Amino acid sequence: MKGLIFNIKRYAIHDGPGIRVTFFMKGCPLGCWWCHNPEGISKDVQEVERVDRIGDKEFTVNEKVGKYYTEAELLDIAKKDMVFIEESGGGVTFSGGEPLVQDDFLSEALKLFRNEGIHTVVDTSGYARRSVIDKILPLTDLFLFDIKHLDPAKHKKFTGVSNDLILANYKHILEKGKKVIIRIPLIPGFNDDEGQLNALRDFVAGRQGTNIERVDLLPYHRIGSSKYRKFKLEYRMQNIEQPSARRMNEVKDFFAASGVNVKIGG
Ligand code: SF4
Repeated sequence: MKGLIFNIKRYAIHDGPGIRVTFFMKGCPLGCWWCHNPEGISKDVQEVERVDRIGDKEFTVNEKVGKYYTEAELLDIAKKDMVFIEESGGGVTFSGGEPLVQDDFLSEALKLFRNEGIHTVVDTSGYARRSVIDKILPLTDLFLFDIKHLDPAKHKKFTGVSNDLILANYKHILEKGKKVIIRIPLIPGFNDDEGQLNALRDFVAGRQGTNIERVDLLPYHRIGSSKYRKFKLEYRMQNIEQPSARRMNEVKDFFAASGVNVKIGG
């Protein structure tokens, strides 16, 4: 079987414990306004134009985004870093896009890594059919699970989908005893007002003592914005500033005051 991957990051240290190899899979059913991996949204191989510069000269180069790999090829790539992975208590992470979109390939790949004794992480928006979640669950050691907003209408406006399915899957994963790190992207004008921060804090604090390992607060950043034009997508966060370090620390302290194990960044 083959899966479509748009990036492979070696020596990743923000995608789960230890040093990891992260595979970024194509396809996502959401369209978050702030997405910094817009090349992961389409589930197909894309042809885009890239502008390269040498000195003061510019060259336009055609670039293919997305390449098919077999699960055995991914294993070979990860094996090159096994010394670091083993020494650091790391493993592999499947991210995206939304890795659950390619659920058949994902489950085959997870099985292969598991058989090799390699720790597996799935970084997900949580938006998938229950049957897909149940297929992936036993093959995943840890989920990085995004909670973006608790109001279904606001969630739909800014991501394209309601949060009903996501919250139901989140509850299900915890009830099945899986380890979870919650990821909350802190997006100015979307979820950083007092009312929503209170709601998010109460939501995560209510499940402390279960298998939630930690909450990661991910500050909005504009790093991906330059890619939007290349992919002919509209960037709708044009006038939004990145939260300051001081603001991030305030929010972190706010969560921590309720006993939440919280960290800034992944
Ligand atoms: S869920 Fe993640 S990959 Fe998908 S659009 Fe949102 S930020 Fe981008």
